[in-house]
Amino acid sequence: MRGRMMEMPLLVSSLIEHAGAVYGDRPVVSRSVEGPVVRSTWREVRDRSRRLAGALQNRGIGRADRLATLAWNTQRHLEVYYGASGMGAVCHTLNPRLHPGELAYIMDHAQDRVLFVDITFLPLAEALADRVPVETWVVLTDDEHMPATTLPDAVSYEALLAEYDGEWTWPALDEYDAASLCYTSGTTGDPKGVLYSHRSTVLHAWGVSLPDVFMLGTGETILPIVPQFHANAWGIPYAAALTGAKLVQPGPRLDPAGLTELLTAEEVTCCAGVPSVFLPLVAAWRKAGSAPPSLKRVLIGGSAPPQSLIEALEGEFGIEFFHGWGMTEMSPLGSVNRLTPAMRARPVAERARFQTKQGRAPFGVEMRIVDRDGGELPRDGQAFGELQVRGPWVAAGYFRDDAEIVTDDGWFPTGDVATIDPAGYMQVTDRTKDLIKSGGEWISSIDVENTAMGHPSVAMAAVIGIPDDKWGERPLLVAVAAEGADADSDAVLAFLGEHMASWQVPDRVEWLDALPMGGSGKVQKNLLRERFGG
Ligand code: ADP
Repeated sequence: MRGRMMEMPLLVSSLIEHAGAVYGDRPVVSRSVEGPVVRSTWREVRDRSRRLAGALQNRGIGRADRLATLAWNTQRHLEVYYGASGMGAVCHTLNPRLHPGELAYIMDHAQDRVLFVDITFLPLAEALADRVPVETWVVLTDDEHMPATTLPDAVSYEALLAEYDGEWTWPALDEYDAASLCYTSGTTGDPKGVLYSHRSTVLHAWGVSLPDVFMLGTGETILPIVPQFHANAWGIPYAAALTGAKLVQPGPRLDPAGLTELLTAEEVTCCAGVPSVFLPLVAAWRKAGSAPPSLKRVLIGGSAPPQSLIEALEGEFGIEFFHGWGMTEMSPLGSVNRLTPAMRARPVAERARFQTKQGRAPFGVEMRIVDRDGGELPRDGQAFGELQVRGPWVAAGYFRDDAEIVTDDGWFPTGDVATIDPAGYMQVTDRTKDLIKSGGEWISSIDVENTAMGHPSVAMAAVIGIPDDKWGERPLLVAVAAEGADADSDAVLAFLGEHMASWQVPDRVEWLDALPMGGSGKVQKNLLRERFGG
């Protein structure tokens, strides 16, 4: 017997309509690419998204067309999210930090018809113009700031909006229709397109709004430092609309001074980003002697945050730290570590160690760990194996790619190796490809990196396995010295020896000025392996 309730599809347009109707006056504040901070509201974002959809339709854009963006976190980019997906097209965010060759491949694979580009990335778009199928070039600015460009028939975003002044009504789409597209940066093989649906987007937005994740609501102000081109800024642009949170967007200014200024002026309560953004931010706050006073909590994920960062946030600045884990294929939220009240009562160092765990699955994600034969492993906090997930916001396949990516029994293998403890807290010990096997024993590169970054002279650390005749593999520590500190390998190795078994301690340290970082802010260990013979 079926229930007798309405069948209403979960659509991205319903999020912006809700925000406009119910939280119309709540602010949306963005640092613009042109410079000034622009103040708007959810009502205005709704109205402008509608106009964008109408203007695009008039220009012949229709259902399922791919509309790409090469843009910072700004109001106009937000409007493209809603306008494009809402009209039934697919909002395809491009990562401007990728190599132009990779971008050309992705745009051709996606068959993007439109590109919305920030002024900052205009030279990049011009260099790509002959290699991609784009027909309509939209520069995310107004006519006054429109630069000279070689892009054919380029139009400013504001001029495009002005092309429509009708009464727009969003189409009634199927909730399983595609809404947005994001390619994973994949360190091996070609990039793969993750194609989110309206349904997965709305459910994920609901999930990340909950108290144990971003804790959003009308009393909150959230600033996603994580870019909109990285797994839709972890769903924050949707979740803020769903809950009526004030949304603050940093635009192109991601330096500590720019971020601190905006966090303070806009009284931001919650922000989110990768560890490599928070390390310099915390260093700047330490130098200044304070953090933005309104900031209550931060969610950090994307790669493993060092324990020293957690201790600094919680111990020095009294900011609650939430550790998140996820993947582009998971929209991206997979787990969050929010402490139980009992845990929170423990001393900072003790609970910070626990907070290096990636945390528990929210409703909407199921997890298991399996051995090499696919047999499920116990949740005892000790056994480790490949982490597999499933749920309504997990990818079932890639865009224009027939490869099977889920197991026969319906789970997505993440490529991460993890433990799960009896309380359900998952801990990533490594990427499958980064684990080091030395003398038959596994060494977690994340563990060694985390410990190394606890030494005051180490600003950044990456550990890779180097072939070794005797042991099979041995760990090599590649490090960047902290500002003003000596690159003293012996001191760092001795420090590691105090914290881990001797066979886990790397044999030597290679010091670099900087680690090679990929487009999504992760260390490119493949490049380190090439360089150091891993
Ligand atoms: P890519 O797979 O292209 O690097 P993603 O952003 O999808 O891009 O990265 C997902 C991967 O990032 C995860 O599979 C995991 O290895 C790593 N990751 C994400 N969050 C964390 C975290 N909190 N701790 C450790 N690793 C993480």
